[in-house]
Amino acid sequence: MNHEKIFGDFATSYCLKKLNTLRIGGPARFFIEVCHPIQMQQVLTFCHQKMLPFFILGKGSNTLFDDRGFNGLVIANRIDFFSRPQPNLWKVGAGYSFSLLGTQSAREGWTGLEFASGIPASVGGAIFMNAGANGKETCQSLHSVDFISSEGEFFHFPVEQLHFDYRFSSFQKLKGAIVSATFSLRPSSKARQEQIKLIRYRTKTQPYSEKSAGCAFRNPSHISAGALIDQLGLKGKKIGDAEVSQLHGNFFINSGNASAKEMQSLFKFIEETVKKETGMQLQREVRFVPFEENTFASI
Ligand SMILES: Cc1cc2nc3c(=O)[nH]c(=O)nc-3n(C[C@H](O)[C@H](O)[C@H](O)COP(=O)(O)OP(=O)(O)OC[C@H]3O[C@@H](n4cnc5c(N)ncnc54)[C@H](O)[C@@H]3O)c2cc1C
Repeated sequence: MNHEKIFGDFATSYCLKKLNTLRIGGPARFFIEVCHPIQMQQVLTFCHQKMLPFFILGKGSNTLFDDRGFNGLVIANRIDFFSRPQPNLWKVGAGYSFSLLGTQSAREGWTGLEFASGIPASVGGAIFMNAGANGKETCQSLHSVDFISSEGEFFHFPVEQLHFDYRFSSFQKLKGAIVSATFSLRPSSKARQEQIKLIRYRTKTQPYSEKSAGCAFRNPSHISAGALIDQLGLKGKKIGDAEVSQLHGNFFINSGNASAKEMQSLFKFIEETVKKETGMQLQREVRFVPFEENTFASI
């Protein structure tokens, strides 16, 4: 592997604000966009050999970066090919738009991913988080996933070999990158109608045009986190420019130029208030990416 060539492709001090939907975060020490699985393998192998911390970024719609940025390599997954090995099997690169996939499949009369329409995720991020809405989850129509480990090894996982739960996938315990996925869809004459209904509901009930990262907290077992926050009168609570949405209690928005510190303080305040008032401990859904203080990589 030509290390100099790979390193030469890295941008330095790269602004992360524009790469996440909260528009928060300092610079990445190094940054690269990866467009092909082989390139992903080379970059991951480079990080492994140089002991360089890396972070795989999809569309940044569930990510809160540190104000100091990331002291390693941010790898933006832009592998976005599309193919149909069989009419019902849709294979896409992990950087493909999950929302587009939902709209496209429904428009062509296939059911399984209508709920994806409007979720501003990459396919890789949706699988990693097992994104879901309206009682449906990503894993339900998944057929298989192609993954490259942090040591650069390729894996093909049929869905039966993976574990999924509410906003959980096996990939949260593995180190590496999802590079592509195949979905198994079923024909349905109602798919397009259902997808349009869901997107209309979404745009009415969520602060869709605001800077947010979707739901801040996972829903506890018997109540939605949004309803809980609403019942405690916490909608509109503001710390600096970090604010609980007036429209949806579980969406925290950046109403101006919020810092990660302000957003973290808002999370903490809501967690502590909910705990004090109800005894319940909320679990965060948005993923905070720490700066990586102790990086010893010599490049
Ligand atoms: C307006 C709005 C509405 C939303 N609605 C919903 C909703 O209805 N349902 C829902 O579940 N979520 C929702 N979300 C949250 C978010 O879209 C999902 O969590 C989504 O799955 C994140 O995908 P992403 O590509 O943006 O991931 P990112 O934010 O880029 O990354 C999230 C995590 O996934 C990892 N990751 C990303 N890509 C890969 C990969 N290729 N390989 C390995 N790891 C990877 C990252 O390292 C990170 O840990 C919403 C967000 C917004 C802003």
